[in-house]
Amino acid sequence: MIASHDGRPPRKPPSPQAKALPSRQVTAMRRSLLRWFRKHARPLPWRESNDFYRVWLSEIMLQQTQVETAVPYFRRFIRAFPSLQALAEAPLEQVLEYWSGLGYYRRARHLHQAAQIIVAECGGQFPRDWASVRALPGVGDYTARAILSIADNQPYAVLDGNVARVMARLLALRGNIRRAHFRRTVERQAQALLSRRHPGEFNQAVMEIGQTLCRLREPRCPQCPLRRWCRARRLGQTEAFPEPAPRRPAVRRHLALAVIPQDGRVLVVKGLDEGLTPDLWNFPSAFGSSPQQALRALRRKIGSVTNARLPLSQPVAEFRHNITYRSIRARVYLAKAEVRPPTRRASQHDAAADAGPLTADARWLTLGQLRRAALGQMARKAIQCLRDSPGANFAQLHLHFG
Ligand code: SF4
Repeated sequence: MIASHDGRPPRKPPSPQAKALPSRQVTAMRRSLLRWFRKHARPLPWRESNDFYRVWLSEIMLQQTQVETAVPYFRRFIRAFPSLQALAEAPLEQVLEYWSGLGYYRRARHLHQAAQIIVAECGGQFPRDWASVRALPGVGDYTARAILSIADNQPYAVLDGNVARVMARLLALRGNIRRAHFRRTVERQAQALLSRRHPGEFNQAVMEIGQTLCRLREPRCPQCPLRRWCRARRLGQTEAFPEPAPRRPAVRRHLALAVIPQDGRVLVVKGLDEGLTPDLWNFPSAFGSSPQQALRALRRKIGSVTNARLPLSQPVAEFRHNITYRSIRARVYLAKAEVRPPTRRASQHDAAADAGPLTADARWLTLGQLRRAALGQMARKAIQCLRDSPGANFAQLHLHFG
């Protein structure tokens, strides 16, 4: 059995033996649901086989990402790392490159770490018992249930936001899904309705309904295989279930980013400011509570990274971006590296760094390297804005983000 990666004992599994509702209605409902799924399931790439590795990878990708967004990433990822062994042997940097653009990079780090644990402790065979799966980095209750039910037909009902919405409407359950008590109630109901013969298909069917029909607004009830039994529909109050969860208020932050080109290379550093996305390359950046404060912090940061004072332009582009609860207003500045003779201490990587020896978390990348690098979202957005910005004179700066 795999020990918990954070040192805590894994939580007890939900009881797969929870008693189903003794009703003929439940049997008819399950049949209708499964029939609908077999006919209407979208042909998603991870559904081509129920192999543990593919199911696990898809569930991790889908934790914070819409299905449509995840599909091309999944295809590319599976081509690059066709097996758990291949993923475990790959350098983390390469894994992050293939994750680049998908966001929430901790998922990729956990995936890589978990693959190495499985190879080291289970001979490369994905574990099949609840405690071991739940102990893997990045695997919570929902993901463990999804993996074990879909890949191994074990009778665990899943409960994510989509499933909770379907269940709350189907049974007209009132409450807020963020509250533990209500969550447990919905969990119990989902477990009771679960098909014991086809738990994986049942779970996927409910998820599919939540994603495609039972939408937050304007659910498509006439096409839903559960409509005959749906209490919220009968009450004419589909959108009243479940109660909307209160949102954490957004915190407004200002970010200053510097694009520093020199001789066809551009300066990047690991991580955004304030410890965000620590494994991804970004342009030097700094947060502040006002644009001026962010700019001052950026100047200090550039000084510490390049060991030089580089003059910054007026802002050449602006954009907005949200990261979790942060509502970010970003300004992009250009800087020209000062010419200095390269020092002996300069490594091969920073041989072009006339600005001076770089700190260990910074590099000069050619534009080809920049395109392939594991770049953070803010750097991607900055590049996109600069492409469209008349203020950035690329010919002069030898920068072409083609
Ligand atoms: S009938 Fe409508 S509200 Fe009820 S589960 Fe189906 S889509 Fe959702």
